[in-house]
Amino acid sequence: MEDCLFCKIIKGEIPSNKVYEDDDVFAFSDINPQAPIHILVVPKKHIESAAKLEKEDEELVGKIFMVIKKIAEEKGFANDGFRVINNCGKKAGQTVKHLHFHILAGKDLGEKII
Ligand code: 5GP
Ligand code: ZN
Repeated sequence: MEDCLFCKIIKGEIPSNKVYEDDDVFAFSDINPQAPIHILVVPKKHIESAAKLEKEDEELVGKIFMVIKKIAEEKGFANDGFRVINNCGKKAGQTVKHLHFHILAGKDLGEKII
């Protein structure tokens, strides 16, 4: 997707602090961190949101969560605990229309919404 910010970050056209990359998944630090560790994990394939997932993306989403686990172990916060958030669509406040999972860690994350 030509106009997609995260596609540009994945291609290196916009700089980012890369945390992880493989053939299918890319992870980088959020530019406006909401916790001491705030990482975004995205598929390289442009998928607009969780609501636009197709059956063929099933394995890809599983891979994303395995990458989340790997990052948590490598960065040393797997045992302390962390939060994974996906905002999907307008009412959830999704601002970048490329599927992404926020990982928040490194502090007591406080009150839960649910
Ligand atoms: P959303 O609100 O869509 O769930 O999350 C989008 C996230 O992308 C926000 O947390 C925001 O700080 C982050 N973000 C927006 N622009 C950039 C950017 O240019 N670089 C990086 N690394 N993160 C960005
Ligand atoms: Zn994209």
